[in-house]
Amino acid sequence: MTGRVVVAGLGPGAEALVTPEVRAALDQATDVIGYIPYVARVADRPGLVKHASDNRVELDRARHALALAGQGRRVVVVSSGDPGVFAMASALFEAVEAGPPAWRDLRIEVLPGITAMLAAAARAGAPLGHDFCAINLSDNLKPWALIEKRLRLAVEADFAMALYNPRSKARPEGFVRALDLLRETCKDARPVIFARAVSTPEEALRVVPLPECRPEMADMRTVVLVGSSRTRVIAREGAPYVFTPRSA
Ligand code: SAH
Repeated sequence: MTGRVVVAGLGPGAEALVTPEVRAALDQATDVIGYIPYVARVADRPGLVKHASDNRVELDRARHALALAGQGRRVVVVSSGDPGVFAMASALFEAVEAGPPAWRDLRIEVLPGITAMLAAAARAGAPLGHDFCAINLSDNLKPWALIEKRLRLAVEADFAMALYNPRSKARPEGFVRALDLLRETCKDARPVIFARAVSTPEEALRVVPLPECRPEMADMRTVVLVGSSRTRVIAREGAPYVFTPRSA
């Protein structure tokens, strides 16, 4: 079998933030598979077949990629950011685990990308400069009670936090509850960064003290970085710098 599956991260949006090895894998691909807006980021060229699918079909998409590789195709499964962060790499290995034994002999490679929280943190300064965690606020694949538990424990451990998928049209109430919980448990005015569409022409960054945060400040193109109790703001003309010192 000469087929292979590469699971590649396209980064947060800008072409300059696609790594050279991801670019090379895309140049050699016969097939690109992924969620519609991510596949749209890959340029058309003769000999490249694009398979764009809707959200929430990750396992079907993974099986499709493996089946094509089994036929000898060079398949690239694309995710935004990094493919291992709330994205396709896990789905691919779930499919391998449950699939035919021959899939274990395929060449499978995961190529990292710049994940949204790191692109956003770099824009703001160094808010994730000490210990931090990442939490997906979508309750599509886990119960809301677990999200609340993790938020509470992250505050107790005094992690800075990156909140992915903060607020969708289908579930606007989750982020309202998350902000209420953070305000009640943190009891301070630590900075929160709303970073939207980082590295794209629509990029917008806002730094807001926790008590003044409103749910409408986030949408599905926003990653929310919540400081720890030690995170500080350096005010200046223009956007402030936000950083978390390395010493606890
Ligand atoms: N694998 C991706 C995350 C997929 S989940 C990664 O590593 O970045 C989708 C969520 O990622 C969005 O709801 C948003 O919270 C965040 N996100 C992705 N791209 C972003 C960008 N350019 N700017 C801000 N947030 C982004």
